[in-house]
Amino acid sequence: MKNDLFIVKPGLKISLKKDYDPAYKGEYINKAGASVQLSQSIERLAKYQDMLYAQNTYALLIILQAMDAAGKDGTIKHVMSGVNPQGCQVFSFKSPSAEELDHDYLWRSFKALPERGNIGIFNRSYYEEALVVRVHQEILDKQQLPPEAKTKDIWKRRFEEINNFEKYLVSNGIILLKFFLNVSKSEQKKRFLDRINRPEKNWKFSVNDAKERAFWNDYQKAYEDMFNNTSTKWAPWYIIPADTKWFTRLTVANIICDKLKSLNLAYPTVSEEHKNQLLKAKEMLENE
Ligand code: ATP
Ligand code: MG
Repeated sequence: MKNDLFIVKPGLKISLKKDYDPAYKGEYINKAGASVQLSQSIERLAKYQDMLYAQNTYALLIILQAMDAAGKDGTIKHVMSGVNPQGCQVFSFKSPSAEELDHDYLWRSFKALPERGNIGIFNRSYYEEALVVRVHQEILDKQQLPPEAKTKDIWKRRFEEINNFEKYLVSNGIILLKFFLNVSKSEQKKRFLDRINRPEKNWKFSVNDAKERAFWNDYQKAYEDMFNNTSTKWAPWYIIPADTKWFTRLTVANIICDKLKSLNLAYPTVSEEHKNQLLKAKEMLENE
């Protein structure tokens, strides 16, 4: 499967509706075929992560954005199931706290960036600042912004700020992967009903989720504008079909593996002096 298929080419104007099919499954027919490949990708990912951690030079920041019930949580759970927890950190971004609102909007993200050697996952992210905040302008009104920052061109400005922020990250070794899990409105309905019908899934559903669904078209528009303005050479967006869970997980895992592979990771090499020290230690241990 060509991962390029899902990339939003920088500079290109896309239409979410026309260009991206949420039900796309590539050449896969069923889960069984894909699950063997997913296990292999998870194993590869674990190997790359080990090198990423040992090399301690790059960090990988994975951003997950989606409508509710698109499968962010399941993707994190499955794709990251083989990685060493020591080198991985997940942050879920909710509505900002009073303290967070007292700062600029990137402040809380700065604090949550992964350390070198680590994989960081943002479950939702600063992109909400041009999504939920754009769809519900009353949220913007509560952000303590000066009037000159609240002008009409605010979204265009936020896109530019985010692009600059990401450029700064990437050129300092914090590599970005941005995924949008593209679920259809009808599949979301099915998943919501499933969450309501199955007691063990009830906790995953809130009435607010159903209310947000009423703003579906506004969100699609906000997402589309965001992709068209923030898919850059240094941090392009990937729009992943999300009506079929196993396909979403496999595709995300493959793209992460390919990105890590492209970094040419390697275990740190040991100096001659260190090698001599190892030999001395070995001799000491053997002569104990
Ligand atoms: P799930 O429902 O699968 O548990 P979730 O990511 O939807 O995961 P929720 O607690 O349901 O988590 O929702 C978090 C909410 O916080 C979302 O509605 C999101 O839009 C909102 N949010 C996130 N970032 C911001 C922000 N910067 N400003 C305002 N609201 C935000
Ligand atoms: Mg939710």
